[in-house]
Amino acid sequence: MKTIKGKLLLWNGILLIATFILLESIVYLTVKQALYNELDSNLYDECMEVSDLFVVENGDITFLDDHEWNEAEHSEVGANAIYFQIVAYPHGAIIKSSNLEELNYTFAITPYEYADIPDQVFITNIEVGNHKFRKLDYPIYENGTMVALLTVASTLDIIENFMNVNLKAFLIITPICLVISLAGMWILSKNSLKPLEQITQTAKRMLASSNLKQPIKVTRADKEVSHLIDTLNELFGKLDKSIEEIKNFSANASHELRTPLTIMRGNIDVILSRERTPDQYRETLQIILEEVKKLSRIVDSMLMLARSDALKEKLQMSVLRLDEVIKQNLPVWKKIAQMEEIELNHSVEPSLEIVGNEEWIQELITNLVENAIKYNHPHGKVFLRAYQKPEQIVLEVEDTGIGIPEEEQDKIFNRFYRIDKNNPRSFGGSGLGLAIVKWIVEEHQGRISLTSKANEGALFRVEFPIVEFEDSSLTKAGEIKNW
Ligand code: ADP
Repeated sequence: MKTIKGKLLLWNGILLIATFILLESIVYLTVKQALYNELDSNLYDECMEVSDLFVVENGDITFLDDHEWNEAEHSEVGANAIYFQIVAYPHGAIIKSSNLEELNYTFAITPYEYADIPDQVFITNIEVGNHKFRKLDYPIYENGTMVALLTVASTLDIIENFMNVNLKAFLIITPICLVISLAGMWILSKNSLKPLEQITQTAKRMLASSNLKQPIKVTRADKEVSHLIDTLNELFGKLDKSIEEIKNFSANASHELRTPLTIMRGNIDVILSRERTPDQYRETLQIILEEVKKLSRIVDSMLMLARSDALKEKLQMSVLRLDEVIKQNLPVWKKIAQMEEIELNHSVEPSLEIVGNEEWIQELITNLVENAIKYNHPHGKVFLRAYQKPEQIVLEVEDTGIGIPEEEQDKIFNRFYRIDKNNPRSFGGSGLGLAIVKWIVEEHQGRISLTSKANEGALFRVEFPIVEFEDSSLTKAGEIKNW
C-alpha cells in the first residue's frame, strides 16, 4: 500500500474491526455475566425458600407443609421453569418437582462431603439433551453430617438465545459498518487528496514550460491544504521574481560592460588602421583610459552589490559621527561640484552620532551628492544637510536639477535602471549607484525617501535610527558593534 489513500483505508479498516471486536467482547461478556448473576440469585432465592419446607430423618424426607411445597413446586416445563430435586443422604429417597418428573430426568448426585461449610451452594452448567441447564446444589447438614442435597435448576435457553442473537447482530452489523466507514473514508480521502493531485499537475506544467508564473489553483481545499498552496504560490512568486532579477541583471550587466568594450575596440581598430601621430595615439589612449575607468567603476559597483547579496556576516558597525564623516569628505565633493560649476552648500549639526560603517556611509553620501551634481542644471545648486530629529538623525541631499518624474521614482533604486540612458548627464553612470545607496541604508536600519517632480529638482532624505545608549555594547563613538 504505497498510496496515502490505500494506507488510510487499510488502517481505518483494521482499527474499525479491532474496535468492534473489543466493544462486542466487552458487551457480550458483561451482559452474559449480568444475566448469569440474575439467574443465580433467582435460583438461590428459590433454593432457600424450598430448603425451609422439609426435614430429613434417617434418610426420609418429610414435608412440613405439603401445601406450600406444592405451591412452590413448579409444574411448568420451559424456558422460565425452575426444577427441583431433593436427595436424602446417603442412599435415601429422591423427590423431584413434577416438571422434572415430566422431563424424566435425574440430576447427577454429587457427593459434597468435602465442602463442609454451612449454607455453601455449588453452581454448575450441565447439558440435558439439547438443552443447557444452570444447576445450583445445596448440601443440607444436620449436626455436621450431610443429610440431603437440594438441587434447583433452570434452563439456560433464554440467556443462550439472547447471547446468540447478540453475536449474530454483531456479525451482521460489523461488515455493514465496515463497508459504510470505508466508503466514507474513501470519499473523504479522495476529496482531501484531490488538491495534491492538482498541485502536482501545476508543478509538472511549470516544469515542462519552465514558467513559474502559473499560480496553483484548486477547486476546493481544506484549510491545511490551502495554507500549503498559498505558501507554495508565494514561494514560486518569489522564485520567479528572483530568476527574473537574475536574468535582468545578467542582461544589463553584459550590456553595460559591452558598451565601453565596443568603444575601446572601435578606437583601437581605427588607430591601428594606419600610421598615426603621437598626439593621435595619446588622444585615443585617453579615450580608452576613460572607458577603462568606467569599466572598473561598473565592476566595482557590481562587486559591491554581489558582496551585499552574499554578505552573510553583517557590516562591521561602530558608533560614528555623521557630521565628521561629512566634514572630512566635503572638500572632495566641493571640488567635483566646482568642476561642474555647481554650488554645493551644506548645513550640518554637530555631534550627530549614528551606528554605522564609515566606508559605506561615505559611499552612500558620495553617490547621492554626485547624482545631485550630475543631474543638475548648469550653475545649479546642491544642498547637503544633516540634523537631528527627536527620533532620527536625518541626512538630506537636495538639488535644483532635472528632477525625477513620479512614475520613475519607484524604479530608480533598481539595479542598472537609468531614466534616460542617452542623456549625456548619465555618462559614466551604470544605474547601480542608487541600488547601492538603498542597500547601505537598509543595512543601517534606516529609511530612504525621495521627493521630486520633473524639472523641479530632487530631495533624497535618509533617516538613521538614534543610537540607543542603554545598549551596553554601545557607549561612545568609535566603539565597534556587529549588527
Ligand atoms: P547612474 O549611475 O545612472 O547615476 P543611479 O543608480 O545613481 O545610476 O541613478 C539611477 C537613475 O536615477 C539615474 O540614471 C538618473 O536618471 C536618476 N537620478 C538619480 N539621481 C538623480 C537626481 N538627483 N536627479 C535626477 N535624476 C536622478
